[in-house]
Formats: sequence, C-alpha cells, structure tokens
Amino acid sequence: MVDDSSSSAASTASLAQIPQRLAEVRRRIVEASADRGPDAVRLVAVSKGQTVEAIRAAWDQGQRDFGENYVQELVSKAEQLGDLTDGGLRWHAIGRLQRNKARDVARIASVIHAVDRAELAREIDRRASAADRRATGRNASAAARLEVLVEVNLGGEAAKGGCAPAEVGPLLDAIAGCPNLVVRGLMTIPPETDSPEEARPFFRALRELRDRHGGAAALPELSMGMSHDFEIAITEGATIVRVGTAIFGPRSRAAARPQ
Ligand SMILES: *Cc1c(COP(=O)(O)O)cnc(C)c1O
Repeated sequence: MVDDSSSSAASTASLAQIPQRLAEVRRRIVEASADRGPDAVRLVAVSKGQTVEAIRAAWDQGQRDFGENYVQELVSKAEQLGDLTDGGLRWHAIGRLQRNKARDVARIASVIHAVDRAELAREIDRRASAADRRATGRNASAAARLEVLVEVNLGGEAAKGGCAPAEVGPLLDAIAGCPNLVVRGLMTIPPETDSPEEARPFFRALRELRDRHGGAAALPELSMGMSHDFEIAITEGATIVRVGTAIFGPRSRAAARPQ
C-alpha cells in the first residue's frame, strides 16, 4: 500500500524521465534498423494506462504517433488532448475491437491495427467516411481513407484477437471492397515468452505471410514488436513498433496485458 503523496511523487519522477527514455528507445530503433535507412521504422508510443501529462511530455519531444487499446480511454484522451489532435497527433487503435465501438474508433483513429474479421471491417467502413471523421472527430487532416492493419493470431491463442493465417486472404478481399478503408499491412502480438528471442519465429512468420499476400508493394507495414522485443521485430522487418513501458514506465492500472 502506498499513500497518495508517495504515489504522486513516483509519477512525477517518471514524467521527468520520459524525454530520456524516449530518446533511448529512438536510439535503439535507429541502431536496429541501421541497414534499412532512416525512417524505416515508425515508433508508436503506447499510452494506455498513462496520463495525458505523460502524452504531452512525449509530444514535447516530437512524438506524434500514440497507441491506445481501450475505446473509452481513447475517446477521453482525444477529448482532453484536442489541441494536439488538431496539431497532428495520430492515434493508433491497437486493441481488440468490438463492433459496437467502431464508430468512436473510426472518427478518432488514424490507423486501426486490430481488424480481424470481415464484419468488423465493414462496420468500421460504414462509420469511416472522411467527411464524418472531419466533422465529428476534430480530425481536420483525416485522410480520404482510414488506414487499417489486419491482425493475425500466429500463436493460435484463444484469448487473443487476430485472424488465423488462412483467413488473411479472404479478409484482405473483404477490406478491398470497403470504399472508406485502405489496408496498409499486417499486425501481430506473439505469445508471451521468457526471452525476446523466442518471439523471432512469430515475427518472421508474419513477414512470410505478408510475402505470400503481395509483399511489401501490397502490404507495406508490419506492426510488430513491443518494449521487450522491438529490436528483434525490427531485424525481422517491422515497420511499426508499439512501445509502452520502455518509454513511459509502468502503467498505472491493470490496463496491462496485450489482448
Ligand atoms: C500494451 C501493448 C503494447 C505495449 O506493450 P509494452 O510492453 O508496454 O511495450 C503493444 N501492443 C499492444 C497491442 C498492446 O496491448
């Protein structure tokens, strides 16, 4: 049990550490992607369970892409940070999505990482006309089409979202029929392992799956890699890494597990 004064002192300390932690993550990304040139990898700062002050601290260091898992939290933060949204902050919806949340996500997010079934894609599409998104999402720069990634469940884990590898083709076809969506690539969350190296086969499998579905020309983005394994994901071809605790420190509540 910690009392209020000590827990707020702890969160102040970690706020002050964000610039340095972010710089360190960036340095490690540059190092891991050295053979692929600058800007080969985009960093999404995963801010679930973190405060809006923490997001502002990263923003002040030039961070523009932020990831959230839970729709209510995304809605509330986008509201509190309307000035940043207007200023070019890009929200990435990275969590498992229910169809009845598609409307809020479609109006706020710039990229949706966890599309894993055709009904969900069609519902997001229905809610995602650029005009609607500009009118209701304070998202003045809403692109003509909303970017989505197909989440693949490579570990066959029942508790996690993502489609089976064999479903990727039909799902890509379904998204191609959605006029307000554009599919940019694939995303995966490997099973939890003790050592980061054990995640490598899953990262490689996602790249090989992408190569069987038109390669980088059709699916330029591979969203894979988190705090404990992003360098391995980068060496296997990640173009987007989703990093939370390495930047922000521990999350305040049990927003904890990727799902
Ligand atoms: C929480 C989460 C992350 C970030 O995890 P860290 O270990 O804090 O870097 C990345 N991706 C998804 C889908 C998540 O849920």
